[in-house]
Amino acid sequence: MANFKTHIQASTIISGIASSVFLELHILTIPEAIYCWLAGSLGGILPDIDSDNSHSLSIMFGLLSIAVCLGVFVFLSGKYTLPYLWAAVVIAYIILNTFIRYIFEKLTVHRGGCHSVLMGLLCVCVGVNATHYLNTDKHLSWLIGLFIGLGFLTHLVLDELYAVDFSGARIKRSFGTALKLFDIKNKSTTACLFVLLGINIYFLPSHNSLINTLNTSISDYKNTMK
Ligand SMILES: [Zn+2]
Repeated sequence: MANFKTHIQASTIISGIASSVFLELHILTIPEAIYCWLAGSLGGILPDIDSDNSHSLSIMFGLLSIAVCLGVFVFLSGKYTLPYLWAAVVIAYIILNTFIRYIFEKLTVHRGGCHSVLMGLLCVCVGVNATHYLNTDKHLSWLIGLFIGLGFLTHLVLDELYAVDFSGARIKRSFGTALKLFDIKNKSTTACLFVLLGINIYFLPSHNSLINTLNTSISDYKNTMK
């Protein structure tokens, strides 16, 4: 399988190319293209969060810590004095990075349910919902989610390609474990991912805004080319 550096390089390049195309088509502004680029790069490391000692897991919990601590601070701010707010943030940080991380590491197996197309779809939907509920434009929320999916898929394909030894024209034992629809061996994790996906699909915002933006931008671009 490919290492962390290769994954981050590949997803950064692929999402960089895709975001520049959307920028050229005037579907994204420069800041929006940067958000999508970052989302795609992040998507490229998500499949390996099930590896207990991976950079991906540390980065994910680092980002999650920032989000949770910020969320706790904003939610409680105005209700308590500053020392209590600091204490709440520290407690949230400790709970996340000890108990929750421990449970996550125990429940996940490397190259298990997280390393699948099903998990990729869940990440897309979570990305769309999270950014939408942060009051991002609907079309941008969808694009950020889809860029996460692009990076995620790039990772799975790259791992699968690394399972083929092109020089010796042979296939390594890991072939077929990277790019799978879902993890058939681990039924409880797969069932859990399906339930989470269903919940997230239910809350997805309408994609009409994205379709309209794409249609308008592509027809405008065609007109300027005439
Ligand atoms: Zn991987």
